[in-house]
Amino acid sequence: MIELKDLVMLGQGAPNSLSGGRISRCVCAYSKEHGLVRLYPIPKKLLRQWDVFDATVELNTQDHRENTWKIYRSKEDWQRIEKWIRKKSEYPKEERSKLIQSLAKDNLGDLIKARKSFGVIEPKIIDFELVTQNSATSIQTKLFDPDYYIINQNEFKFKPYVVYECTAKCSCKNPQHKQQIVEWGCYEWMRKNPDSKEHCKKVFDNLRLTDKEWKTYFLVGNIHKSPKTYIIVGVLRFKKKN
Ligand SMILES: [Zn+2]
Repeated sequence: MIELKDLVMLGQGAPNSLSGGRISRCVCAYSKEHGLVRLYPIPKKLLRQWDVFDATVELNTQDHRENTWKIYRSKEDWQRIEKWIRKKSEYPKEERSKLIQSLAKDNLGDLIKARKSFGVIEPKIIDFELVTQNSATSIQTKLFDPDYYIINQNEFKFKPYVVYECTAKCSCKNPQHKQQIVEWGCYEWMRKNPDSKEHCKKVFDNLRLTDKEWKTYFLVGNIHKSPKTYIIVGVLRFKKKN
């Protein structure tokens, strides 16, 4: 077992169903010592963005992604997981944008080459696209647990995508990236009226991606089955000071 100290919770990925009825999220956290790390499984609602915590972890021999850790004894101790994930404080509000700015030097090309688990990108937004999934059926008949929708993202009729370029010099051949946003808040919004394109389109307004008063950063992470594919796990934004 390994102790990771003073982790700052930055974002969380889509929940997964585990054996024994556990619903867990994978979390992206930052520490001075380790950089951006992936941690799982973490029960929903246990950690919020900007929580500072210590975690006891172990390596998962099944998952070879960079800087990726499993919570120690997570299966046996699921009901008392606080033993291994210990919240300490909140990252100070006035320090948050400084931290993200210091991390936001990444470009997608280098992340892919190094197969990094996460990166923080300052994007130049080019376009938005709500991609329609032809095979999707209405999910309205299945509304019972908010987590359900996220687990079954593929059952949404629409998927939000953003087209952007990295502000940092990008080593990709094609500097324009089209990536899916899987931030939880987007799906929370869409599920209120999942079949209406008009309604779902508003996810982009909600994210304030083109609002000049806000500075936006993307927290991007790769996916297990395809470590060279990155999705936007979180949108971090800060109101600009006048
Ligand atoms: Zn790029």
